Amino acid sequence: MAPERDGFPCELGRYGGQAAGPLVICIGGMHGNEPAGVFAAQRVLGELHAHNPPFRGGLIALAGNRVALARGCRFVAEDFNRMWLPERLAALRSAAVQYTLNPEEAQCRELSEAIEAALEQHRGRVVFLDLHTTSADGVPFAIVSDTLINRALALSLGAPVILGLEEELDGTMLNYMNDRGLAAVGFEGGQNEASSSVEHSEAALWAVLVAAGCLPEGEIARAANMRSVLQQRTSGIPGIPGILEVCYRHAVTPTDQFVMEPGFLNFQPVKRSQLMARDRNGPILARENGRILLPLYQSQGSDGFFLVREVHPRWLRLSALVRRMHLERLLRLLPGIEGDPVRPDTLIVDPRVARWLSVDFFHLFGFRRRRSEGRKLVVSRRPHDVTSLADW
Ligand SMILES: [Zn+2]
Repeated sequence: MAPERDGFPCELGRYGGQAAGPLVICIGGMHGNEPAGVFAAQRVLGELHAHNPPFRGGLIALAGNRVALARGCRFVAEDFNRMWLPERLAALRSAAVQYTLNPEEAQCRELSEAIEAALEQHRGRVVFLDLHTTSADGVPFAIVSDTLINRALALSLGAPVILGLEEELDGTMLNYMNDRGLAAVGFEGGQNEASSSVEHSEAALWAVLVAAGCLPEGEIARAANMRSVLQQRTSGIPGIPGILEVCYRHAVTPTDQFVMEPGFLNFQPVKRSQLMARDRNGPILARENGRILLPLYQSQGSDGFFLVREVHPRWLRLSALVRRMHLERLLRLLPGIEGDPVRPDTLIVDPRVARWLSVDFFHLFGFRRRRSEGRKLVVSRRPHDVTSLADW
């Protein structure tokens, strides 16, 4: 696929220092109507090449759904950020299917090859940053799978951090990278068309470069300016910056005729029974108190809205302690919990026996819900969970 035709090349650019260090892979435009991340990565690369600051390791910036970016739509044939499943990638890479690929499938193959090549060339730590924007206006935020390294990297951005969103979505680039054992942070920089979203996304990339140890703090004046732009946008909201978790997802299908009520902003508090949206079955009310996240104000998408709530700092400290002590090894001693014979980091839970154990309980130990198998609940945890920033 020729870069000229699609507007952006697959690789936007790279920057590397003489000294060894972590590799930061940044991707923008996984959704074609969200170009801010692409522009932000280009600005950061431009600034690095212009100033040549001391730098450890490398930065590679990639463009996501280039066909959709060229058309300004979320996707063309299918959501590019829902197809990153190992079986799917293996099938796409097999030569037999290459003549029947839709635009996203063709790009998925190309992008996964570019990522594999970057990972093969690099020895050492890798951080992945996935830059998105939202259809609704509101405060920017980070999305991570709850590992200790991801928490630390995401908190360095200076924006609220959301846990559990990735558990609701299959086939995202973020989950794919996490499952590969990489530290991975998603960032929602603001409203799709707002110029401030480019500045917020740029701030996120600078912050990750500093937190990962690639770039010394204070080397680039523009990085500090972008950081204060982001901080102004995230300050003054009660309870954040901090860590929040998803407590509800409203899934939608194209036949639902889902219409969000107008005027909702990310993190706006909502009350139980408040009117949130309507579909062909009538009004949709909030199931509990919380804050709204990602209200759907575009025609394409399968998530109507999410509700999130704040996570108590004590829970965060306790869960870090529990994981560093590897107390998860004791879970298999409990009735109703078995280790998966094939996958060492996976537990199979029989809720009829382990009735008092909720998904929240497993979150404490760093497990995430994978799926339900019959009546059983399957949870797994990231093998690299206990790595901290200090270990880098
Ligand atoms: Zn997106």
